[in-house]
Amino acid sequence: MSKEQPTLFPELVPFQAQPPEESYVSFVPGVKPEEAFLEIDTLDELIGRMVECKRCGLRAGCRQVVVADGDPEADLMLVGEGPGQDEDEQGLPFVGRAGQLLDRILQAASLRRDEVYITNVVKCRPPGNRLPNPGEVAACRGYLDAQIRLIKPKILVCLGLLATRTIIDEQAAMGRTRGKWFTRQGISIIATYHPAALLRRQEYKRPTWEDFKSIRDRYQNLRRGE
Ligand code: SF4
Repeated sequence: MSKEQPTLFPELVPFQAQPPEESYVSFVPGVKPEEAFLEIDTLDELIGRMVECKRCGLRAGCRQVVVADGDPEADLMLVGEGPGQDEDEQGLPFVGRAGQLLDRILQAASLRRDEVYITNVVKCRPPGNRLPNPGEVAACRGYLDAQIRLIKPKILVCLGLLATRTIIDEQAAMGRTRGKWFTRQGISIIATYHPAALLRRQEYKRPTWEDFKSIRDRYQNLRRGE
């Protein structure tokens, strides 16, 4: 007679934890686990990697890497497209004319700039303030994904078409997508016009204000625990 004990649950196999890279689902579409800086678990370390970065050609043409501004513990995160000349000079996002308009919009929505976290899809200034090209966005979006993973915002606002296409849907059109709430990985996402577009197109001001009223209401409900 065999001394082998019968297996009670032969269909069960021992649980094996997946290494983080294999189980990781990025927040920003298209970011592969090996591009998501999963080995980094502090914002300071991530900032260190960003300021040393030369992954794309933009670094050669800018003064400095513009990482972010605001509260790293923020519940509300705003993402624009890339630094302009003033941002490149000062090393902070949204400090030029568009940034000053954003400050006024935030203030009107009862939000302080220092209670939100502001960054861009690409961290280096594209020459002549052109839009970043797809290769530059692909090179940089892993940093954005890592910022979102480490900051864990509850609300994410895409400012302008590039951020909207990078984060929400690569086929998005502002007219169709702005002002609607989406949820991904427990984070509420909304798109609205970039403040620079408001400086050129008066007719964008009203819908943008409607979007920010909705953002304000959701943020205030969140703070009240609703
Ligand atoms: S734009 Fe992004 S990927 Fe390109 S060099 Fe700057 S930090 Fe690196």
